[in-house]
Amino acid sequence: MEEQLIFFNPVFTHNIWGGSRLHDEFGYPVEGTDIGECWGISAHPSGEGCVRDGKYAGKKLSALWEEHPELFGNVDYDRFPLLVKIIDAREDLSIQVHPDDTYAGQHENGSLGKTECWYVLDCPEGASLVIGHNAKTREELSDMIHQGRWQEFIREVPVKKGDFIQIDPGTVHAIKRGLLILETQQSSDITYRVYDYDRLSDGKPRQLHIRQSIDVITVPAKSPQDSVKSAADLPENHIHELYRCSCYRVAKVTVSGAMGFVVDAPFMLATVVAGEGIFNGRAVKKGDHFLIPNEVRQAELSGRMELILSNI
Ligand code: ZN
Repeated sequence: MEEQLIFFNPVFTHNIWGGSRLHDEFGYPVEGTDIGECWGISAHPSGEGCVRDGKYAGKKLSALWEEHPELFGNVDYDRFPLLVKIIDAREDLSIQVHPDDTYAGQHENGSLGKTECWYVLDCPEGASLVIGHNAKTREELSDMIHQGRWQEFIREVPVKKGDFIQIDPGTVHAIKRGLLILETQQSSDITYRVYDYDRLSDGKPRQLHIRQSIDVITVPAKSPQDSVKSAADLPENHIHELYRCSCYRVAKVTVSGAMGFVVDAPFMLATVVAGEGIFNGRAVKKGDHFLIPNEVRQAELSGRMELILSNI
């Protein structure tokens, strides 16, 4: 039986806050100085990549999911559940919050909610992210937002390269300028914008979603210590679980020389975030996104590289 990994051609988004690192540092074939996101593994209708080569070349991930459930271990999900992207923030992103499955299902045409997490690939010295807020009650939350008391409301926390941040639904969050992030998330694009720094896009402010935000924001917020953990400098040649919840498990592996692991999930998603090497006989390098299908039960890796893995 021929075991094969399934590689994807990503799709890209242009955003007012985007930059050029996805082209310059990852070598992706996309031009511009406003490239915000690379959707590396996605079956979401807002941006879906195709298989790069092999017997499924050109097929969309959603079609692969529909036509070949055996590749995914015949799991009982009504759609491909995850989305993996790389985000390059040249400028601050708006302050936002996502609903959970229940709220999104009721108010957003049956969409999934959005639980997401970030692995910081790179950031400048002294970088920070917005995670959480400082309101103690829902009434105070509503007052701070309606009165525009953003300095008081927003909670910024310092981050460094290699940090991992889990963003539960209801968590106020924003990526700040200079950050390069790998995001693993539920396959959803439902975002409620709370505040956009009073910026103009094409001469007018972007739409805010104040009512929905106040509905879904968790009060009080999780503590900063519970929000950010360091995943830099972990021992090499081991799988390190960064987080596990009902939506996903995310892990990091740093390969130096050779190592192997058992694929203990129906399928796994992988992104090479640094370096290059060999994965089950295939050459892989920084920027590659691929599916480890169900038939592959053992992974053999060599070279010098870092990968972020995820599965349901
Ligand atoms: Zn988000």
